[in-house]
Amino acid sequence: MSDTISELAASIRSIPDYPKPGIIFRDITTLLGNPRAFRRAVDELVQPYAGLKIDKIAGTEARGFILGGAVAHQLSAGFVPIRKKGKLPRDTVRVAYSLEYGVDEMEMHLDAVQPGEKVILVDDLIATGGTAVAATQLLRQMGAQVVSACFVIDLPDLGGRRKLEDLGVDVRTLVE
Ligand code: AMP
Repeated sequence: MSDTISELAASIRSIPDYPKPGIIFRDITTLLGNPRAFRRAVDELVQPYAGLKIDKIAGTEARGFILGGAVAHQLSAGFVPIRKKGKLPRDTVRVAYSLEYGVDEMEMHLDAVQPGEKVILVDDLIATGGTAVAATQLLRQMGAQVVSACFVIDLPDLGGRRKLEDLGVDVRTLVE
């Protein structure tokens, strides 16, 4: 592991039995609150895409907004919020998905992406992949090209990365 990645890993706080028994919650608020770790995390997320022409970054609520906004700024791309149901004011596309700890629905504005636009999906963590697969479905349904998905944290035992790769999405993660 490089020094940068060890430093990032050390800046993430682990909370046992949150939000329910048996789950170890990987809390990135400690990474976000550390100026050096936050900058490095964004730099590392962006680095594989340097020089690519990316139209939009799509981030899933809520931690994907924080990281995705910073990544969008760095890549001079637009930002598309993928939100929990009922939060977006105009016409949406909606998809149901299951989480490591529950079931939910997410939505995106119908006009958030145009057919053929190149999009990168950003979130803090990939676990079972349910969230990222559903977000990919929404984006593809509207004709966008999901060129890659990136996450600060991968929980490899839960198989999400593999699920996304099986859909043909390039997946980048920083810390396991
Ligand atoms: P999944 O859909 O199972 O890949 O779960 C990923 C989504 O749920 C991400 O938006 C994460 O922020 C959140 N999440 C799932 N498991 C955890 C965990 N152990 N610690 C922190 N966030 C998690």
